[in-house]
Amino acid sequence: MTPETPIIQFDQVAKSYNSTINALNNISFSISKGELVFLAGHSGAGKSTILKLIAGIELATTGNIIINGINLAKISQNQRTFIRQHVGIVFQDHKILYDRNVFDNVRLGLDITGLYSKEETIERVTHALNAVGLADKIKSRPQELSGGEQQRLCIARAVVHKPKILLADEPTANLDRENALKILELFKAFHKAGVTIIVSAHDESLLGDYGKRILYLNNGQFRG
Ligand code: ADP
Repeated sequence: MTPETPIIQFDQVAKSYNSTINALNNISFSISKGELVFLAGHSGAGKSTILKLIAGIELATTGNIIINGINLAKISQNQRTFIRQHVGIVFQDHKILYDRNVFDNVRLGLDITGLYSKEETIERVTHALNAVGLADKIKSRPQELSGGEQQRLCIARAVVHKPKILLADEPTANLDRENALKILELFKAFHKAGVTIIVSAHDESLLGDYGKRILYLNNGQFRG
């Protein structure tokens, strides 16, 4: 695969829920390997739906979605496992577990895969928490963290798998501007490390200075 090869490709994709709500109307776009792309648009525009389709959490009603050369409509079990392992997601309904500390929250996702030795688990979790600036909070309980720190914890959980693609659904939604910009800086750092990233935001004013590609959604269609 060359750097120009799209790692994410939507071809005339529509998504309706319950046969009535048209969340996406025949949208097409592609994202190259290593790109950082922002997805902007009002609440209900279809941003989460795009991210859920990429992650394989929802299926397109019509059209084709190709992720890393895999057509999600014709996916085998092995390919589904590949997608799960290589797409990291930071969703709004993040289920932080408040009965365990920060380290164990991040570790849980690795334990579930059963793929890593204890040493590798510790190495990966420590690395992820360092990367998001939570190295000094490893033993803290999530309820002791600020909103921005909780969002960092969610990002650490997503990157601990070292995903090829990182999706973040409104990671700045509940943060003040200063903390929101710090979170966006984190995504820029992962982008520099070569990860393909899509970050959605309804507050377009946050995205202005980034000089990155912005896809604007309006009622399930791209604007302009
Ligand atoms: P955004 O992330 O931009 O706020 P969404 O993708 O969440 O937008 O929603 C797009 C449209 O699809 C909205 O009208 C929303 O109410 C609807 N929708 C999203 N998820 C579901 C669902 N699981 N069932 C029914 N309707 C849904």
